[in-house]
Amino acid sequence: MAMPQADERESAGRQIFASACPYPPCSTVEEVLPPKASDFALKFEFECEGCRRPRVFLYEKGRVVKESEPRVYGYCSEMRAEGGVSAEIADLLSAATDYLHRGATRGAAVLVRVGAELFLAHQILRDPTDDQSLDRFKPMIDRVRAGEGVMATEVRDRICDYLGNIMALGDTAAHPRIYPQNRQRPFTTGNVLEDLDHLEEIVRLTTGWGRAE
Ligand SMILES: [Zn+2]
Repeated sequence: MAMPQADERESAGRQIFASACPYPPCSTVEEVLPPKASDFALKFEFECEGCRRPRVFLYEKGRVVKESEPRVYGYCSEMRAEGGVSAEIADLLSAATDYLHRGATRGAAVLVRVGAELFLAHQILRDPTDDQSLDRFKPMIDRVRAGEGVMATEVRDRICDYLGNIMALGDTAAHPRIYPQNRQRPFTTGNVLEDLDHLEEIVRLTTGWGRAE
C-alpha cells in the first residue's frame, strides 16, 4: 500500500508534520508536532480521530521523520461484506494488525491464530459446529490433510503446513512453556508478518478471491 505524501512546514521555529491516515478509506489529516526536544530516536503513537486505529510516527533529533506504514490484512472488506463469522474474522485480523503496528507482537500472534482457526472451521471445513467451540485446531488441520475441505489437491499440504505454523505461533505466545519443541514458533515481528502473508494466501486459495493488496 502506498503511503500518502506527508506535508511539512515550520511555525515559530517548530516543525509541523501533517499526514493523512494510511487506513483506507479514512484519510483523516493530522498535524503532528514533535513531542519533545530529544536526541533520542523514538516512536510515538496516537489513535486516529477518524477511524480510531493506531498511527505511529518516527521521531529523531527533534523532528518527526515519517509516519510508519501499517501492515493491513488484505481481505477485510470482502469478509465484512459477507457478515456473520467472516466479519468476526475480519475484526480479529484487523485488531491483530493494529497490535502489530503498535509493536505488540505477542497479542498479534494470538489473534492471527484465533482468526485462522475460525477461518479453518467456517470457510475451509464449512462445519457450523466448529464455529461454536474452537479447541480443535490440530484435529481440524488433520482432517484437511486427510482430504476434507475446499481446495485444489496440489495446495493441500502447503495450506496445512501454514496452518500448523500459525497455530504454533499463537500457542507459543499464549503458553510460553508449550512442549514439544516443534509446537513452538517465536512470536517475532518477522514470523507474525510471514504468517499473515500465509493466511492471506490460504484465504485466496480457498475462496477464489483475487490477490490481497
Ligand atoms: Zn484514520
